[in-house]
Amino acid sequence: MTTLYSPGTRVWLSDDSQQQWIPAEVSSCTKAGDTLTLVLVDENGKETTVSGSTNLPPLRNPELLETVDDLATLSHLNEPSILHAVQSRYLQRKIYTYSGIVLLAVNPFETVPLYTTEIVQQYIGRTKGELEPHLFAIAEDAYAAMVLDGKGQTIIVSGESGAGKTESAKLVMRFIAAPKSPSVNSDANAFVDGASLVEQQIQATNPILEGFGNAKTTRNDNSSRFGKYIQLLFDTNRHIVGARVRTYLLERSRVTYQTHTERNYHIFYQLCRGLPAGDLDALGLSADLSQFHYLNQGGPSTTELNDREKFRAMRDALKIVGIGPDKQKSIFELLSAVLHLGNIAVSHARTEAVIEDDDPSMSRAMQFLGVNAADFKKWTIKKQISTRSDKIVTALTPVQAVGVRDSLARFVYACLFEWLVNAVNESFTGKYGDATTRAETHIGVLDIYGFEHFEKNSFEQFCINYANEKLQHEFNTYVFKLAQEEYRQEKISWTFIDFDDNQPAIDLIEGKLGILALLDEESRLQLGTDASFLAKLNTQLDKPANKDVFISPKFANAAFTIAHYALQVTYSADGFLEKNRDTVPDEHLALLTSSSNAFLREVLDTALHRTAEVVETPPPDGVMSKIPDPGRTGIAGRGGSVKKPTLGSIFKGSLGTLMEMLRMTNVHYIRCLKPNDHKRAWEFIPSQVLAQLRAAGVLETIRISTAGYPTRWTFEEFARRYYMLIHWRDGPPLIKREQFKRLCVLVCQKMALDKTQYQMGETKIFLRIGVLAKLEHVRSIK
Ligand code: ATP
Ligand code: MG
Repeated sequence: MTTLYSPGTRVWLSDDSQQQWIPAEVSSCTKAGDTLTLVLVDENGKETTVSGSTNLPPLRNPELLETVDDLATLSHLNEPSILHAVQSRYLQRKIYTYSGIVLLAVNPFETVPLYTTEIVQQYIGRTKGELEPHLFAIAEDAYAAMVLDGKGQTIIVSGESGAGKTESAKLVMRFIAAPKSPSVNSDANAFVDGASLVEQQIQATNPILEGFGNAKTTRNDNSSRFGKYIQLLFDTNRHIVGARVRTYLLERSRVTYQTHTERNYHIFYQLCRGLPAGDLDALGLSADLSQFHYLNQGGPSTTELNDREKFRAMRDALKIVGIGPDKQKSIFELLSAVLHLGNIAVSHARTEAVIEDDDPSMSRAMQFLGVNAADFKKWTIKKQISTRSDKIVTALTPVQAVGVRDSLARFVYACLFEWLVNAVNESFTGKYGDATTRAETHIGVLDIYGFEHFEKNSFEQFCINYANEKLQHEFNTYVFKLAQEEYRQEKISWTFIDFDDNQPAIDLIEGKLGILALLDEESRLQLGTDASFLAKLNTQLDKPANKDVFISPKFANAAFTIAHYALQVTYSADGFLEKNRDTVPDEHLALLTSSSNAFLREVLDTALHRTAEVVETPPPDGVMSKIPDPGRTGIAGRGGSVKKPTLGSIFKGSLGTLMEMLRMTNVHYIRCLKPNDHKRAWEFIPSQVLAQLRAAGVLETIRISTAGYPTRWTFEEFARRYYMLIHWRDGPPLIKREQFKRLCVLVCQKMALDKTQYQMGETKIFLRIGVLAKLEHVRSIK
């Protein structure tokens, strides 16, 4: 370590007060035993002295390398260097940077001229390093790999809320669906507005899923409240023939509750603002949103999001996927039922809940749900408990009754969402021929919530972070495999070191006696509570095997902590059981499934049927058996069977299938980064980005790769740049192709590089971390 420093060495000086790194140079260094004392001078000439044997200032890259396209080519791969590269590029309006196989994308927060048809055309047929880093290069890479051998591809887009995942995923899909050659243009598919029917159907999935699954949150005006995996399907000629959508874990609490300044799902506002007055009347709705409890909890909602315009686009999109005006009307009736449910007044007589028989909201809601109001009322203010010999009916408190009412609203909405996803999928198998049977291979795009840690973390964050833990594991394994393959191909001898595997954290969550299993066990007990769940965690998990990943519950604030790969997160156990169960009472379920509303019955049937598939049967074969299915979401709270699937178990199941599916494809990664919290264009807050780079595992991956030979240059690149370091008696010769490799060896010998510092492969020279900077330094003073 200490030999790395000499006068002139470029370093990063940490300024703790400002939480930033300052560029500086070593002006002198003295060594006493193991301790090195460095005098550093920053750009303003200010001197600072640091000393120690470890933890000395990280090295700064030579200028040539400071803003490279690919961080993996940096000679010094430390946090400040990486951050500096990404920041400098962003400030030059370069929002994309490669980091090995990952593309980093920093949100520009304004329209950038990077996605025009001309640019799309430029990237078609080009390999990744040829042009500036871009989403399109990743998409083209995936497409080319698929064309080459027909292997399925997955593009994983991750990042925190508001970082730009959904926008990036849409751009990637648009690029992949863009006509690749004139022959595709003359495709027999119907043409409207220049796009084929299949392309239109694919485009139509966006407004539908966003309308029903996105909402305004404090972090993002158009925040996706579900995970989504879209597979674009190709036939043997590599033409798009259809698509398939899978969604994961829609946030249901939002249907009945929103925090301050947040909104419910867009569709409710679109409906109330977009529907003509007459139609609104018929649904008992009005454009005055403040009168609906499910819409007014976040405060007044402005029209800034163009709800009316979006509504028009939504209806067009629904039509494209085969949902015509009649079905649309049925959908609107269910949405309206949900809003009216929220307005049913629950009062009390002593401690017992009371609902008036003539509650106008109740009559409207029941009219649209096709359920008898008296029955509904009965099972909202009362509950039935079965004992071994008897059935006992007891009265509920108002709070409990509101809970039942809300659970019903959430259930209907969640089922409707499932039904829509199903309808979108069916549009690709409908009257235009079954696209999915012609499909031979696919490119999947996964738009999934990134790691989350808030002040208060609940069941939702737990599930999201669990998903990220699994994805990170796949990522690490994949990066290792790739590196190993390259070393093998180049015949480099290298034994892999162990890296921090995150398997223990995954086992803690999904293992046989892990958190999910314990949660399910507790959820099934009639008397189970969040507190008894927490106690169970404490007795079962607080043992030596978990010491690195589990920090025992703090009963004072009813919380437990998991050490995730990214960082420690403390989860408040409050509401875990309720959310995991997410049931509607059996009596209500029976009322709904025997409703007089045929559409509602169809919706429930579709949603409940899909759940049964996730939990009980292996992925269906036959149709689409060539292309693996990335799992389904499903609805909890299904009645009838003894063991109702819980949300946790459904999520675990669909994540499992998703991972299997990822393993069968080539994976490509896009990590979206949010440069600031204010949605401001071109403002870069280093500490925030650094936190995201850490959470995305970018630095972790880099750490893994620095253990090997992170710098790989072709013999030619290396020879051309450094042969001038050799002293040529008669001046440098003209170099010839067959001499590249020999020249590389000569350079290394001349620079007195230790044999452990480099290896010669078949086509490339592999260098240890830092070697390149040394060569650059010598080159710059020569
Ligand atoms: P969430 O997890 O909440 O769904 P997200 O990562 O999907 O967040 P997006 O909705 O894709 O985030 O992006 C948030 C906003 O950032 C967009 O509405 C848009 O204003 C802006 N944005 C994202 N990407 C781009 C881009 N490439 N060009 C211009 N603006 C962008
Ligand atoms: Mg999104």
